Amino acid sequence: MHRLRRTLLLPLGLGLALAAAALPVSPIAERSAAPAAEPPTVSAGHVAGATSQPARISGGTLRTGAAPIRPPAPADAPATQLVSGSVDRASIRMSATYAAALNLNFGTRAIAVDTTITATNTSGTSVDRVELNTIAARLGGIRLGTVSVDGRAASASIRDQTILVPLGGVLPAGATVKVRVAYRATLKGDLAGSNWLFTRTNGVASLYRWLPWISRETAFTRPNHGDPFVTPASPRVTVRITTDRPLVLATTGDRIASSGLSQTFEARNVRDFTVTAAPDFRTGSRVVGNTTVRVWYRPGFPATTALDQAVRAIGRMNALVGTYPYRTYKVVQSAGGYAMEAPGLIWLPTGVAPSSIPYLVHHETAHQWFYGLVGSDQAREPFTDEAAADFLARYTLGSKRASRCSTARLDLTIYSYSSACYYETIYIQGGNFLDDLRSRMGSTAFWKGLRAYVSANRYGMATTKSLLDTLDAHTSLNLVPRYEPRFPRLY
Ligand SMILES: [Zn+2]
Repeated sequence: MHRLRRTLLLPLGLGLALAAAALPVSPIAERSAAPAAEPPTVSAGHVAGATSQPARISGGTLRTGAAPIRPPAPADAPATQLVSGSVDRASIRMSATYAAALNLNFGTRAIAVDTTITATNTSGTSVDRVELNTIAARLGGIRLGTVSVDGRAASASIRDQTILVPLGGVLPAGATVKVRVAYRATLKGDLAGSNWLFTRTNGVASLYRWLPWISRETAFTRPNHGDPFVTPASPRVTVRITTDRPLVLATTGDRIASSGLSQTFEARNVRDFTVTAAPDFRTGSRVVGNTTVRVWYRPGFPATTALDQAVRAIGRMNALVGTYPYRTYKVVQSAGGYAMEAPGLIWLPTGVAPSSIPYLVHHETAHQWFYGLVGSDQAREPFTDEAAADFLARYTLGSKRASRCSTARLDLTIYSYSSACYYETIYIQGGNFLDDLRSRMGSTAFWKGLRAYVSANRYGMATTKSLLDTLDAHTSLNLVPRYEPRFPRLY
């Protein structure tokens, strides 16, 4: 994200609040009827999607290739790959698809969510719990509904922004489980604190991290505006959104179906699914290479400037760090608060000053590579995404500047930096540290190294050390003495 404050706008009148009942919600079926007979393969940071699995239905016959055929479960017990026992362990290394229904009542701000997560344990070891991240647990007054594991009721609990779901048994390495989670929550009606991430204000509904997502337990409260999130990419996310009135929706996915007040979206290889909605969104678009850059905005928003800057940023960054892989890149006016990155989509807040747009768009666009394509632990290693993104933004804009805080280490968590110096240390000093490496290595070697890092970790999870080690491997210089004082945890 970025910290530049929006210009304050008065919230719109909310006098039309309707009856509080949320719309009924029902799960949507997964597109493939075939159970996963084998886990998706994982190699070199790439997670192959469900389409590469051998199980398929052909002419009414279930073919499983070389995979073992499991005996049918007794009629009264759902099929499961869980085995009895416990290991008291979860892992973020799960390859999971999401099939979700989201009901959004724009009038009352009520939402209802019902999602089925089909997760394959790619961690190499057994787990007996999943840890699902959603900020609805901190901002939405979440009420859990049905939670089940392979069709059996599960006793989920909520801690901070995490829904903890015990699997009721051990999921061996390579095995697959279906976890269904339903909940109701209410969007905030203002932008205070972190509320701008989960709100309907200024005529826009902004839903960040509403979809419970495989994660590791991470504290939401932090002393600055760091992003307290860490999520692996999913091969496929399908979301059917039903609204109480006609709404124009801007989401991480591409729309694949529409019927009445329901619209269905699909996304591939994303690590979150952000939803933004307004009854009066307009759109405009331009094409860059194979990507359509589209802006969603309400009347009065500086949409032309935003679109121009996004086209410029994507074009420059494609050339420096590798081509943006998605069909569309979405620049969306959010309810307010701060500019924010999401997979395939960025938010620019209502009220943003036009003069701030070039920097904000370049910073959030750079996150498409550093956070989006290359995932990382944004909470525990903010250098990995924020320093790389801010360096790339300022490099393409020619807007490098000195830090206003004293020199500090760059390997701490978001919880360790003060509100006053988080941005000045991680973004500015971190970005300048990378630019200094570029000067020493020479631009050719540096960009080659950065492209290699992006390529090797595409749709995977990287670390600060893997970034620094990759750069070090692309020069005959020894960079480690430069790393040691700034990254004492790592070198
Ligand atoms: Zn950022």
